[in-house]
Amino acid sequence: MRYPKAFLFPMLFLFALTLFAQPQQQPGQPAQKTEPADTKKPAPSDKPEPPKDKPFADIVKDAQVIKGLFTLYRTEEKVFVEILPEQLDKMYLLNLTVDSGLGEGGFYAAAMAGEAPIVFHKQGKIIQLLFKNTRFFAKEGTPMQRAVARSFSDSILGSTKIESLPHPERKSILIDLGAILLTDVPLLSYDLEATFRIPYRFDQKNSAFGTLKAFPHNVEVETVAHYATERPPLPPLLVPGALPPSLPPPPRNIPDVRSMLFHLRYSLSERPQTGYRPRLADDRVGHFVNSIEDYSEDARYTTTKRLINRWHLEKQDPSAALSPPKQPIVFWLENTIPLKYRDAIRDGILMWNKAFERIGFQNAVQVKQQPDDADWDPADVRYSTIRWFAGYPDPGFAQGPSRTDPETGEIYDADIRFSESMTRFFRREVNEQIYPLAMPSEYSPTRAFVAPWSVANSRYQCDFAEGAVRDAEFAFDLLVGRGMDPQGAEAEKFVQDFLREIAAHEVGHTLGLRHNFRASTIHSLDQAQDPAITSREGLTGSVMDYIPTNIAARGGK
Ligand SMILES: [Zn+2]
Repeated sequence: MRYPKAFLFPMLFLFALTLFAQPQQQPGQPAQKTEPADTKKPAPSDKPEPPKDKPFADIVKDAQVIKGLFTLYRTEEKVFVEILPEQLDKMYLLNLTVDSGLGEGGFYAAAMAGEAPIVFHKQGKIIQLLFKNTRFFAKEGTPMQRAVARSFSDSILGSTKIESLPHPERKSILIDLGAILLTDVPLLSYDLEATFRIPYRFDQKNSAFGTLKAFPHNVEVETVAHYATERPPLPPLLVPGALPPSLPPPPRNIPDVRSMLFHLRYSLSERPQTGYRPRLADDRVGHFVNSIEDYSEDARYTTTKRLINRWHLEKQDPSAALSPPKQPIVFWLENTIPLKYRDAIRDGILMWNKAFERIGFQNAVQVKQQPDDADWDPADVRYSTIRWFAGYPDPGFAQGPSRTDPETGEIYDADIRFSESMTRFFRREVNEQIYPLAMPSEYSPTRAFVAPWSVANSRYQCDFAEGAVRDAEFAFDLLVGRGMDPQGAEAEKFVQDFLREIAAHEVGHTLGLRHNFRASTIHSLDQAQDPAITSREGLTGSVMDYIPTNIAARGGK
């Protein structure tokens, strides 16, 4: 977690105090000092004039100016965004990262949690954040485009009034960003209630902006969002002898069950401008796809087109058989990864360069280390990262989601996360793996949170790391049973190999690849037990399979 516990806990405590220490008005007691109702009523003659829009400069007079793709103005109370006339109705990508978590119930830190193609749209004196419907499409400038455009609906993600007169030179306008982002944009309240059956709601009064950054192609906005409930519901009364309803446990990792804080990151970016050419999916390679309905022609039997997800790679030297790409795919190791595991993760990522060499790219994938004092954040859309997080009970999973341009399928960002328990799980002496002792709800994470509106839900699902943990537990126990020292060098190598494999698999997902379960059929059981074969060819044909630990039967090779 990026927020040191020593910092987060007092803050949680403070928020809980300020929220609940307010004196409550008791029912039946008169409200304090209410003025007589009629003193405030304006006489018909002195009706206040409708407020006039203030000049641009007045609104941002003492504000801190943060210049970038959009210029932000931060005053003591508010954050304003300047929108230029040419930025209205232009498509941008809104990327959500839930940067902190609860450590349980699917609410884990360092989570890519949704993306949406959006435009700022002016409707009279209101600016709407429109979630564009990119799924239905027809060639631009055709009659069919007109028909399709009116046949389906966009959605409104948020809206707010224009706060100022246009800027005298730039003709730009100002809006209050808080009116849009200091709301329950991710619909966390829905997932929180669905998970814990407690009606948590977004609490605007105790939510605020965190760090704000702006760059030429993206704006990075942090909010600290407070979710709260007045009190947890009582369990239902039961008829004697009746079984209690199966209710999920309340959150157990927060000091006060009524209050929780999430650090959310909104990355607003331009669409990738790389000259990427979309490619239709076919059955030969299992890619993740963006599915669109294309009404441009009726010669095909279906409107559905599937565009594969991949990064844009272009050879530096197009005539060379093997060339480095102009822009490599760079993965940053977050400074949260334990030092002793960084090499294994790096090796797992770089394994992919062998595959890229087969299609003519040299060093297509690069790995860099985020310094301890880095001034950038992994949630920044410009950085693809490998991140570590913790949970309790042990969540034991890793995840490799990615973000794509919805209209082309081009991948532009990926943040892989590993639960720290991945390296500790199997060192336990006793693993209760037999239901009901194992209590799956205790050990396995519920589905990791993703905003329900995200366009990319499918790319978030992978059970490999979780299943691989179970497999590794069994294998580790077996090896310990055969005399391996659980704290020794051989055990350490086991953990390193495990991480290398998971890293390669999750990176494969962020390169746009789905699972390849056929890959485990390349060897017969006898071949799989022959080190001469497996050391040369591996156990499966692809790291995108769920690869089990391969241990020879006693007396085997
Ligand atoms: Zn997977």
